[in-house]
Amino acid sequence: TDVKSVNLEISAVEPKQYPRKRYPEIAFVGRSNVGKSSLTDVLMNRKNYAHTSKQPGKTQTLNFYNVNDQLYLVDIPGYGYAKVPKEQRETWANMIDTYLTKRHELSGVILLVDGRRWPSKLDTQMKTWLNYYQIPTLVVATKMDKVKHSQWNREAKFVKNAMAINDSSLALFSASKKIGQHRIWQWITKVAKL
Ligand code: GDP
Repeated sequence: TDVKSVNLEISAVEPKQYPRKRYPEIAFVGRSNVGKSSLTDVLMNRKNYAHTSKQPGKTQTLNFYNVNDQLYLVDIPGYGYAKVPKEQRETWANMIDTYLTKRHELSGVILLVDGRRWPSKLDTQMKTWLNYYQIPTLVVATKMDKVKHSQWNREAKFVKNAMAINDSSLALFSASKKIGQHRIWQWITKVAKL
């Protein structure tokens, strides 16, 4: 996909703040530090755009990036912050649940996992939850440049087993080496019906 324009249109916490334009939306979820901003930046073909929009450890908004006046990429706060007070975690969880379960424009979710590790319990729980709500999901294993090429098949099998998915729902990605973004765009284009 040729990214002509990118604009952080709104940072929302409540449904009434979501954009009114009814473009399809693709949401990004994953543990904090998994590489979500890096992936979003590569997909948007921008350096440090998503990065500068976030405050580390404090990203508590849904960030709607308007791409080409055609779709929104929606950055969801990373889960698994141990340091965040319980009350705040619950507020986030509510915000995320509301968006993922009630938003008609949501076409699909990209779930990021760390390609160097076995998917965590939080990752598999998130996948189970997305399955329950029948939300089309692409699992993206990030930081694959840190995995030896000879181990890529093995890693892919791990992730597919842990997440109970097949090849069509998995993409291997590296932000630093820029590997995998075309396949991710293909998936987005398909589920968003662009
Ligand atoms: P976020 O918290 O999920 O938005 O994660 P970031 O995109 O900020 O990335 C967290 C850390 O992982 C940063 O230090 C990045 O430089 C690093 N990182 C992200 N993607 C990659 C990647 O594909 N390869 C490598 N080697 N490091 C990455």
